[in-house]
Amino acid sequence: VHVFVRDWLSSNNILLKDAHGCVLVDSGYSKHNAMTLALLASPRGLDGAPLARLVNTHCHSDHMGGNAAIRKAYGCPVAIPEGEAKQLENWNDPALLLGYADQHVEPFVIDEIIRPGTTQQWAGREWRAIAAPGHDMGALVFFNEETRILISGDALWQNGYGYVVPQAFDPDAFPAARATLEMIAGLNARVVIPGHGEPFTDVEAALERAFSRTAALEADPVKNARLGIKVLLTFHLLECERMALRSVPDYLARIGVYRDLNAHYLRLEPGALAERVIGELTTAGVLRIDGEDLLPAP
Ligand SMILES: [Zn+2]
Repeated sequence: VHVFVRDWLSSNNILLKDAHGCVLVDSGYSKHNAMTLALLASPRGLDGAPLARLVNTHCHSDHMGGNAAIRKAYGCPVAIPEGEAKQLENWNDPALLLGYADQHVEPFVIDEIIRPGTTQQWAGREWRAIAAPGHDMGALVFFNEETRILISGDALWQNGYGYVVPQAFDPDAFPAARATLEMIAGLNARVVIPGHGEPFTDVEAALERAFSRTAALEADPVKNARLGIKVLLTFHLLECERMALRSVPDYLARIGVYRDLNAHYLRLEPGALAERVIGELTTAGVLRIDGEDLLPAP
């Protein structure tokens, strides 16, 4: 198993290598396609070997953005979770966070569907696909019993997990996220390879942090709505690299996910919302201001 640990715009790329066929889990964000293809072709990657299959843990732009490019480069089938296939029938589905969140993915052909509960033979090992709803209601995680390696996607990171929408957006999301953490706790995984950040072995501590984060955010939907705006705006800045400060209020009013989070929970004028969010993100050292522009902090 080789893990290409990427930044926060692209998910990690996990390459399961085997002489009888290699499998890649998650393909990054489309802006980084050239880098993803270069990593895949490198000696630590496929190094000239064919790719038997590309799999997604879930269908958010930072995990499936390279699907079309990799399928084209390697001619391999693309396999996605069953729960995501339904949403991908409508590429405008808000749950996919594409246009609704001003994120972009080159459409790709879906060759195979992975059903939760099935066992997949990938790179000479058995990987059980387990439903892991919460951050994404159609997400899967993949577990190998023999090595007790868990490929967790955005269901569990070393520090937290992928953003879970507040109750007005989906009342099932937080209960599902908690049930997913309980399911993961029951696996007794030795190593977790997350969708973002380094692989880790202190799974119990990560689960503890994730459970307390769930309780705190579920109890404070207004804080969670503001967190969603901050997470998505930071992601957007990683993509566009800089935006004019004066354009932020309009942007937050124009793009659906910000508009709806604000309308349901914060109810601030766009100018006041922008000021609050930018203030918190710059104080936290996530973003910085350069003259008249807003940028990701180095
Ligand atoms: Zn992700």
